[in-house]
Amino acid sequence: MASNQYKFDTRLSHMARPHIRTHGFVNMGVHRGSTVLYPDCATRAEGPKHRYEQWMSYGTGGGPTHFELENAIAEIEGGTHCTIVGTGLAAIAVPLMAYLKAGDHMLMPDSVYGPGRNIATKMLAGFGVETTFYDPQVDEAGITALLRENTRVVYTESPGSHTFELQDIPAIARAAHKRGACVMMDNTWGIHHFQPFQHGVDVSIQALTKYVGGHSDILLGSCTVNSREHWEKVRESALLLGAYASPDDVWLALRGLRTMGVRLKHQEQAGLEIARWLEQQPQVLQVVHPALPSHPQHELFKRDFTGGCSLFGVVFQPNYSLEDAYRFVEATTLFGIGASWGGYESLALPTTGFLTRTAGTGTFGGPMIRLHIGLEDVGDLKTDLLRGLAALG
Ligand SMILES: *Cc1c(COP(=O)(O)O)cnc(C)c1O
Repeated sequence: MASNQYKFDTRLSHMARPHIRTHGFVNMGVHRGSTVLYPDCATRAEGPKHRYEQWMSYGTGGGPTHFELENAIAEIEGGTHCTIVGTGLAAIAVPLMAYLKAGDHMLMPDSVYGPGRNIATKMLAGFGVETTFYDPQVDEAGITALLRENTRVVYTESPGSHTFELQDIPAIARAAHKRGACVMMDNTWGIHHFQPFQHGVDVSIQALTKYVGGHSDILLGSCTVNSREHWEKVRESALLLGAYASPDDVWLALRGLRTMGVRLKHQEQAGLEIARWLEQQPQVLQVVHPALPSHPQHELFKRDFTGGCSLFGVVFQPNYSLEDAYRFVEATTLFGIGASWGGYESLALPTTGFLTRTAGTGTFGGPMIRLHIGLEDVGDLKTDLLRGLAALG
């Protein structure tokens, strides 16, 4: 639909409606399938085609259910094309495999999602791709100094999903593009609040597992781009790797999208209320949330984001130990100890001691945990957090 005519919530209700005959049913069905029939042998002989040309060739290219979600995510992020893959992690691996080859160099922020770092160090390194991990808060001159003749990918993630450093994406993209490097960004935290292609990103990655799914019951990832050229590269990589997503999960993501606007708005507000309240507690040294004026890069947040989500960090006073932080987490009853966020349920997870950093970033003045605020009543959550604060000792 004409995307800019309506507000976000209106678009979420009307995007990705079935483009094929559904006998009047408002929703797309679940299209499972491996076999795709050719109309004749001549079409078969032409080789694989995609829906944007005329025909499908095989189930791994996705089906009608996938196409609706791809259209929706491309619209949400302001891109032209999207490829849906089985997990957020696959959505990181697929474009990296598309753009890097032996002898190439990549820049990755020290704050990158851990398993994404592992793709670089445990897999790409073995294929002859070298990665330099850089301070995510680097400026344009800093990233320019790190770029090499063979730097093909400048990877970004803003904010980091454990330590919440923001990145100056437009500055990084300017520097990268001057050298012809591809700019990739993990936009899982920003969702629609950060419009990657208005800030120079070439490939935007999201774990739809998080707020899009919204119910902690699926795994799914997306690679969105803003040109046919990028799409063809990413698409080919997904097909070559067989990075297929289950249509049942895709359907659940389409369902999640319908309520994401209200969920996200509620969770963002609830998260901010709790974040501000925690800032006032004597046991808390710092709440690390890009939307708070106390965040060291809050100006970047105001410049580039229209909002945020309900995932942020809490640093306790330096007199507390990591064991004290464990006691906090375990004393709460409404906060589960879990990693995958964006669902309806609140979570608490120790951060300190679980980070891999090689560029000297990600240190805080005391033990740190990460909170995800779900859809529970805010008063109940505060009462529960008071139990955690009391258990700190
Ligand atoms: C969860 C997450 C991913 C990976 O998503 P999965 O679907 O769990 O593989 C990637 N990036 C970020 C920032 C995440 O939080």
